[in-house]
Amino acid sequence: MIPASFEYFAPGSVKEAIEMLSTYRDDVKLLAGGQSLVPLMKLRLAKPTYVIDLSRIADLNYIRPEDDTIRIGALATHAQVEQSELLKRDCPLLSQTAATIGDVQVRNQGTIGGSLAHADPAGDLPAAILAVEAEMKASGPSGERWIKAEDFFVGFLTSCLQPDEILTEIKVPASRGSKTAYLKAAQRASGFAVVGVAVRLELGKDGLCEEIAIGVTGVADKAYRATSVEKILKGSSLEAALVQRAAAEATRGVDPLEDINGSKDYRSHLARVYTVRAIQAAMAS
Ligand SMILES: Cc1cc2nc3c(=O)[nH]c(=O)nc-3n(C[C@H](O)[C@H](O)[C@H](O)COP(=O)(O)OP(=O)(O)OC[C@H]3O[C@@H](n4cnc5c(N)ncnc54)[C@H](O)[C@@H]3O)c2cc1C
Repeated sequence: MIPASFEYFAPGSVKEAIEMLSTYRDDVKLLAGGQSLVPLMKLRLAKPTYVIDLSRIADLNYIRPEDDTIRIGALATHAQVEQSELLKRDCPLLSQTAATIGDVQVRNQGTIGGSLAHADPAGDLPAAILAVEAEMKASGPSGERWIKAEDFFVGFLTSCLQPDEILTEIKVPASRGSKTAYLKAAQRASGFAVVGVAVRLELGKDGLCEEIAIGVTGVADKAYRATSVEKILKGSSLEAALVQRAAAEATRGVDPLEDINGSKDYRSHLARVYTVRAIQAAMAS
């Protein structure tokens, strides 16, 4: 289908984009890679009168180190995140996760900022962003603010960004000692996660689990941290029977989705199974 007609703007700076967003805030959409927005517009599920294309803002496309963090511009594509040597070395979970998104075309066009702002409950990157404890920078008319990953996703296709804010940067801690894995049961046609589990863990010299963070996507209306699982495993030897027992808590406090891709029970089952597998894969990494 063909989208409804709209007025197109291509600002050259974040400042200009924010001004446009503030001016047209009631009937405007930001466009990044277009991999989620354009299909919605073609189906006429989104019919914005104004579209602000961010893709000409060169300042928003980078992946660079800063102190003990890595800064990722919102326009960095999934392919750039997948292939970044810096991320592969210092925050491998993001590269591992980006590599599983859709197909080559989607990864070449889709951006990390678009994926996070879109807050698709079946999106892959939200799980990894939670597990690496990233922070997101929102830029708006009254300045910039940092938002913790755990506060960023609010509900179905909803982040905590205000209508006049742009997600401009993602900040992740650089952690060379981490063991990480992202595994998903993928929807066969699109690759989206029916259930996806991202794990980051650190083992002490005694072999015990000093740190563990688990992000889960696909299960609920938003990605979440499996804190009940983390609590059981932190400080343990991650021995197989305990991991199995802990993984049964992967949907604790969560109301699983039910749709054409799976029932509540199926998703809960997958969440348990993929939590075990992702922890095992992280330990073996
Ligand atoms: C065939 C296909 C398969 C796919 N498979 C997967 C998959 O397996 N896993 C997965 O996770 N995703 C998948 N996707 C979605 C893909 O990852 C998208 O790239 C991503 O969801 C959106 O990023 P984008 O840059 O294309 O954003 P756009 O589509 O341009 O924008 C998406 C939304 O975010 C808003 N937005 C964009 N950038 C910003 C910003 N910087 N600040 C504030 N708001 C912003 C837009 O206004 C819009 O509402 C698939 C898409 C397609 C078409």
